[in-house]
Amino acid sequence: MIKFLDLYKINQRHKKDLVQAFEDVLDSGWYIMGNSLKKFESEFANYCGVKHAIGVANGLDALILVIRAYKELGLFKDGDEIIVPANTYIASILAISANQLVPVLVEPNIDTYNIAPELIEAKITDKTVAIMPVHLYGQLCDMQTICAIAKNNNLKVIEDCAQAHGAVDLSGKKAGNFGDAAGFSFYPGKNLGALGDAGAITTNDNVLAETIKALLNYGSYVKYENKYKGVNSRLDELQAALLSVKLMTLDDETAVKRKIANRYLSEINNPKITLPTIQLQTAHVWHLFVIRTPERYELQKYLFDKGIQTVIHYPIPPHKQEAYKEWSELSFSISENIHAEVLSLPLSPVLEDNEVDTIISILNRW
Ligand SMILES: *Cc1c(COP(=O)(O)O)cnc(C)c1O
Repeated sequence: MIKFLDLYKINQRHKKDLVQAFEDVLDSGWYIMGNSLKKFESEFANYCGVKHAIGVANGLDALILVIRAYKELGLFKDGDEIIVPANTYIASILAISANQLVPVLVEPNIDTYNIAPELIEAKITDKTVAIMPVHLYGQLCDMQTICAIAKNNNLKVIEDCAQAHGAVDLSGKKAGNFGDAAGFSFYPGKNLGALGDAGAITTNDNVLAETIKALLNYGSYVKYENKYKGVNSRLDELQAALLSVKLMTLDDETAVKRKIANRYLSEINNPKITLPTIQLQTAHVWHLFVIRTPERYELQKYLFDKGIQTVIHYPIPPHKQEAYKEWSELSFSISENIHAEVLSLPLSPVLEDNEVDTIISILNRW
């Protein structure tokens, strides 16, 4: 069986360094808010080209805390609206709801699967406070256009970078450095994955960074003095140390994935399959290689029977989820079409050349 994503194999390649990092943390006798966190935060800020990276417990908390901090700073309030793509992973939307703000869904572009910038302005009202672009599947959104719209309308831009670590545009700017703040996830299956839950916020805004640092630690700057009704969303020393190890090889792993993705793009030629569209090589870090076909479940079964595991990202659009039953009458036809047709192929830095050969030839014989 060719696995969709072999996390065992991926992490085994780093075993020696990961075990060393574990031992260093164990022997330090210090497990929360110590030097490993400081080191990873500074490395990740440097990697993204931003002033601040702040470790948090997971990617959802990263997005929740950015919005929460803007509320504490008096810039957002209950009932304000944030524009978000209709086909995102539901976490982006949950982060808005969790803060008593209102998610306003916008259709994606059918070729890039990212929010369609030309549809944003029609959704801006006097309650809109931010746009949350999601670099879905690893491809940067059209950030130049989105940031220009935000500027003209005095809106914040909060990037959801959970799938796009290291994606770079033509000017050399990286995911996490386009907007006012960004949320990253280091869930084990993400491009940069911890051995458990982890996340980070990036920003160039000193005041926002300071506010978030207090909020994630019980709302406190000084121990036992609480400025805000905060939460506990700290990134622990162990995950931070493991992430420092894996950050070192992130770009190499992305390069391997990009090579495999380019083989898929040039060698899969089955007319029943729609391949993803890319804007710029460096602007896509291939968290997922997502194809489309009206006979998605038939193709998935065919591949499974031939020993190839695939996954659907995602089978149900957020507005059709029970959690958002108030949206069940809404219709987003592009998003619904995407959710009905997508299928993600195996793509990882440990996929062997002969496995890629097999996947391509089996797909072409379908
Ligand atoms: C994974 C993901 C998140 C949430 O990250 P967690 O670390 O799982 O909380 C948010 N947004 C998107 C687009 C994601 O893919």
